[in-house]
Amino acid sequence: MRWPTVVLLSLLFGCGSKSESSTAGAKPIAGVDEQVEAPPTSAPPSPTVEARAEALAKSIIILDGHIDVPWRLEKSSKDGVSTEDVGAATDSGDFDLPRARAGGLDAPFMSIYVSPDFEMNGADAVAERLIASVEGIVAKHPDDFALAPSVQSVRNNFKAGRISLPMGMENGAPLMGKLENVARFHERGIRYITLAHSKDNHISDSSYDDRHTHGGLSAFGKTVVAEMNRVGIMVDVSHISDEAFWDVIELSKVPVIASHSSCRHFTPGFERNMSDEMIRALAKAGGVIQINFGSGFLDGEVREARKAYDVALDAYLKVKGLDPDSDEGEAAAKAYAAENPAPRSTVAKVADHVEHVIGLVGVEHVGLGSDFDGVGDSLPEGLRSVADYPNLFAELLRRGRTEAELEKIASGNVLRVWRAAEAFAAEHPAGG
Ligand SMILES: [Zn+2]
Repeated sequence: MRWPTVVLLSLLFGCGSKSESSTAGAKPIAGVDEQVEAPPTSAPPSPTVEARAEALAKSIIILDGHIDVPWRLEKSSKDGVSTEDVGAATDSGDFDLPRARAGGLDAPFMSIYVSPDFEMNGADAVAERLIASVEGIVAKHPDDFALAPSVQSVRNNFKAGRISLPMGMENGAPLMGKLENVARFHERGIRYITLAHSKDNHISDSSYDDRHTHGGLSAFGKTVVAEMNRVGIMVDVSHISDEAFWDVIELSKVPVIASHSSCRHFTPGFERNMSDEMIRALAKAGGVIQINFGSGFLDGEVREARKAYDVALDAYLKVKGLDPDSDEGEAAAKAYAAENPAPRSTVAKVADHVEHVIGLVGVEHVGLGSDFDGVGDSLPEGLRSVADYPNLFAELLRRGRTEAELEKIASGNVLRVWRAAEAFAAEHPAGG
């Protein structure tokens, strides 16, 4: 009698409709799947979902598309020397070696973030400094970290028990208007470039900028996409405007990524996230959207509540006569937050985004791009640092995702795009 019921329910609640359901709606489906997998009574009890998630996090490669460690180290450095060592436990931040090990993280893309302030004014030097800081982490902790210029190197490092530190450049400003800088930064280890950041630059318009300077990509930006294809750097469409996204989709001969963007479906009007139409086009071209964990990216209501919270906090500091950027201001803000917890989203909501993408385009086109160390104190409950990936896996297992599907979400999909970028470059050598 059991099978017909299960089959019927599977038909009713199959993959397609699952993603559109709320968390509450998704839970009973996991129950159905658990029934299917329940062993005969004579077998030993099956491990809990949490134990399965923990074991899985250790056994598969977890790749995260965007972690802002280099910028964090830059901010905290005194006289050019960082005061923090992420190769040991750190008091602040979302990433360090012990927490990365605990979470099973294997390949966090280090964000070489260059502020729009450096547009055509020293941006390449800033990028060089941040790249050097990643190299410095590896040089200091060669048993635990390794550079990762290729997909194969990620796999080799994983086998050797080392955490790969591949690099992505956030903001194309360091290209400084020179096409030859694409190859230069490939040489330095950059494997994706987010074409713009929070302002229109000489390559692309930004989703955060109302000017629409180029109406998409600039003429130079179009040549940059072709050159990135040629040398084997993935194009990252996070941060760019919708028009620029459509230009990239038309021009890129290689699948592209969104290294840290979530679904606009849950945050109407927030152009920094991707619309369903864009996710469909990205997937059709073979690409991957890597879900951003920031609470403001996950939930439109939480986003609005956080805005109101920030206004209240600003007012509080103003009354006290404190500069928010001063040490006293930061301490007061911390104390305020302890008394008045900021609104935040949940790990279940991150799973909702993953399921939404799967419902739209299938499991081959979604990945993880946390933005750890980049979204301040806005991480969701259950995903507060790199130690917490197993919580997300548990949430997805509860919704009936298989371990093979989780492997694709955790890294397989992005490694596929990265391989495609490598393969295209290999077929198109300089002058070829
Ligand atoms: Zn960003």
